Formats: sequence, C-alpha cells, structure tokens
Amino acid sequence: METTEFDFEDRMVSTEYTGVDSDIELSLRPKQLEDYIGQEKAKDILSVYIDSAKLRGEPLDHVLLYGPPGLGKTTLSNIIANEMNVNIRTTSGPAIEKQGDLAAILTSLNEGDVLFIDEIHRLPRAVEEILYPAMEDYALDIIIGKGPSARNVRLPIPKFTLIGATTRAGQLTTPLRDRFGVLLKLQLYTPEELSTIVKRSATILDIPAEDGGALEIATRSRGTPRIANRLLKRIRDFAIVRGDGIITTEIARSALDKLEIDALGLDNTDRQMLTAIIQYYGGGPVGLETLAATIGEEAITIEDVYEPYLMQIGFLSRTPRGRCATRLAYDHLGLPFTPETVAEPPITFLPQDEH
Ligand code: ADP
Repeated sequence: METTEFDFEDRMVSTEYTGVDSDIELSLRPKQLEDYIGQEKAKDILSVYIDSAKLRGEPLDHVLLYGPPGLGKTTLSNIIANEMNVNIRTTSGPAIEKQGDLAAILTSLNEGDVLFIDEIHRLPRAVEEILYPAMEDYALDIIIGKGPSARNVRLPIPKFTLIGATTRAGQLTTPLRDRFGVLLKLQLYTPEELSTIVKRSATILDIPAEDGGALEIATRSRGTPRIANRLLKRIRDFAIVRGDGIITTEIARSALDKLEIDALGLDNTDRQMLTAIIQYYGGGPVGLETLAATIGEEAITIEDVYEPYLMQIGFLSRTPRGRCATRLAYDHLGLPFTPETVAEPPITFLPQDEH
C-alpha cells in the first residue's frame, strides 16, 4: 500500500519524530518498566508475560504495539528487551525492501534477541511472507534453483521475539496479525500522567519546573509524551529569556499562547479542521477525503495525527457517514450551535484503526 511522507516541521504539536529531537529523545527515554509512566494495562500484561518467559527460559512471544505516534512504542520495545536481558535490533517496514534484507537480519540475530520493526504495516508483502515461518517455526523457507529442479529448503534461525509497532493495526494483513501472541493498544495519556513525564524530563534536562508549569504543558500536549517533551524544551527558552529560568504556570501559559497552542492543546490546524466541518458542512457528517481536500491535508494525517486527540476530548465523532463536530467543539470555538444538518448521534466511537 502506498503511503505518503509528510512534512511536519511547521507543526509544534506534531506527533512525528523529527531529527531535531534525536539527542533529547534518547536521553529522555525511560529504560525500565517502572520508569515508564502510564499505560498501566499494557505494563501489567507485559510484566506477566516477561516474567513467565524468563521463568520458562524461552523468548517472549511476538508483540504488536499499536496506537498513534509519539505514545512510547519504541520506548516500550527497548524496555522489553532490557527487561528480558537481550539485545534489540531496530528497523522499520519501509527500510526493508527485499526478502534478502530481512533474511540477513533474521540470520544475524542471537538466541532470544528482540527484532523491532517500526511501521510494520509498511512492510512489502513479499518481505512479509518471509516473516510467517520465521515467527511461527523460527525458520526461513528458501527456494534453491529454478524451474522444475527448484526445491524448497528450510533453514533454522535463532529463536527471537518480533515486536511490531504500527499506527494502524487495521492495515496489517490477517496472516501477519494472527502470528502475534500479544496485541497491545497504547492509549493517549492523561494530563496527570503527562505532568509526571514532564517533571521527570525537566529533572533529566536540568530545567527547573514548578508543578503548575508542568501541568500547563501536560494539558496542552494532546495526550502525547513526545509533544510534552518538545513543548518543555521550547518553553525553557521562553523561561530563560522572558523569566528567571524557571517554568512557572505563567511562563508556560504565555509561551504556549505565543506558540498558538490553546488551552486544550489544539493548534491552528485543529481549529481550522473543526471550523471547516462546522461552517462548510453544517457540523457534519463529512467524509474523510472531502474534509482532507477542504483543509489541504492528507487523509492519513488527519486520521493518525489529528483525530485521535480530537475524539478523545469529545470534539469529533466518527460515524459511518463521516466526521461530525460535537457541541463541545462549537463551544470551544465560540461558534453558535446551530448545525444545519443535525448530526445523528455517533453510533460508536470507532477505534483508531477501524474505519
Ligand atoms: P513512538 O515509538 O510510539 O512514536 P516513542 O517511544 O519514540 O514513541 O516516544 C517518544 C518520546 O516520548 C520518547 O523519547 C520518550 O522520552 C517519551 N515517552 C514515551 N512514552 C513514555 C512513557 N510512558 N513514560 C515516559 N516517557 C515516555
């Protein structure tokens, strides 16, 4: 499936990893499960499986982590390898172009190692097929020769754990998804959890931050640790130049206002999208593609980056007939709630990956 690359550089609240963050991301990444804040359900399940695998002396079952970008999938994968005392080998779906590339990686693993494949939904189909016997039987099936004399040879490979990360579990093929023993959905974080993350990051980066300042950043970070850490860095600059170096509530508030991130963490693009639904489509429902064309964004970006948070705060609902702005969105934007087409109540809030 074709996927497009996006330029997120202009977007302060982008959830996408950008090179600018590389050094900081590494230093801020928790190394132990106990330092990994939030995601209690996922942590709870994982710790049982990790302990059990260790007691049995076997590799952990293959794990699929899914959820919007910036929620800690890469971080959690590294923690799993750490907790299992094994090495981790990191790659990504689009980076593996040929079957041979994946075969080379698989044969070079040590017993018990973790192979982390980010954006696993973008693995080419032919490459994916190599993974089936590898995951199931720890074997590589290769064909030697051509024509009638060709024969199938099965090569054993070290027992390993595959950790796949994806923003869109719905795009994984069934044979691949079925081969994961553990499927974990990461959730957006609460402001309290993000506030703890901000305080932890501030300590590591040696940035004095008051509780109020940390909470202010947390509430405007769209439930996403990557955004929280990025905003923390930016606000530090304001604190140094406009204040006395300490991130107080006032400094955080005025800096975030200057960055045009509102009290709920929405930026101009979020507001533009909601305004478009309300003003051009009577509040909805409007189809994803139509909406994307109206605001000049890619549909996939709307789905992965904008919608999860807008849905979490109850501003947007996905119905079978399209996207609808809710009354809360009208109120937040200061627009009168008089939808021309009264949107039907959403049948259900569909999960991120089903649409
Ligand atoms: P993803 O792989 O889902 O895009 P990452 O694992 O790269 O996200 O996380 C982005 C950043 O957010 C990391 O550098 C890390 O510092 C921070 N982070 C993510 N999850 C947590 C968490 N649960 N606790 C603390 N920090 C976190």
